[in-house]
Amino acid sequence: MRKLLLASTNKGKLRELQALLADEDWQILSLADYPDYIAPEETGDSFAENALLKARAAAAYTGLITLADDSGLTVDFLGGAPGIYSARYAGEGCSSADCNSKLLKELKGTPRELRKAAFICVIAVVLPGGGQQVFCGRLQGLIAEDYAGEGGFGYDPLFYLPHYDKTVAQLSAEQKNKISHRARALAAAKEYLRGIEEI
Ligand code: IMP
Repeated sequence: MRKLLLASTNKGKLRELQALLADEDWQILSLADYPDYIAPEETGDSFAENALLKARAAAAYTGLITLADDSGLTVDFLGGAPGIYSARYAGEGCSSADCNSKLLKELKGTPRELRKAAFICVIAVVLPGGGQQVFCGRLQGLIAEDYAGEGGFGYDPLFYLPHYDKTVAQLSAEQKNKISHRARALAAAKEYLRGIEEI
């Protein structure tokens, strides 16, 4: 069985990747299996640069085929913000509640048609021999005027999907995992990983 490293210690992401690759012949490790590893700073200025930076460093350290992701929210009216700064939109060490409250404030009084947004996920796969590939997944929606729902995390309670008439936080985990930006990028990466296996 070939080994695939997820360049993250996030247990939720590991579970998601394991579920998506459950029918494939991969043993999936994560950085939790490498406690001495020190992750590089995310100094890139795009999702792709940051995902590649994380994947390259972990692939060089472990010698394994490595997958890393970088994700966030982009809001058209805010020129793409918070973008790569999504986790710290309201300042270093801020909570999701702080970020959501800042987002609502920035969009106060902005009409529905100007509240278009997207969750973006870029996944980088790096091969120890030097090959690399990036995959992008998007989920489009609108920033709601108020919070709704208890599920998910981060900006989910404010991310409204007109097609479902629900925020992402009102979807079941199963529903979210079918349509999310991460699931879409992972589905594309899966095809690439399958190709590597055939070499
Ligand atoms: P990371 O890629 O795990 O570092 O995520 C960056 C940030 O983007 C998170 O801290 C969240 O604020 C936001 N984000 C990414 N994916 C989601 C999502 O599925 N729902 C809500 N917020 C998200």
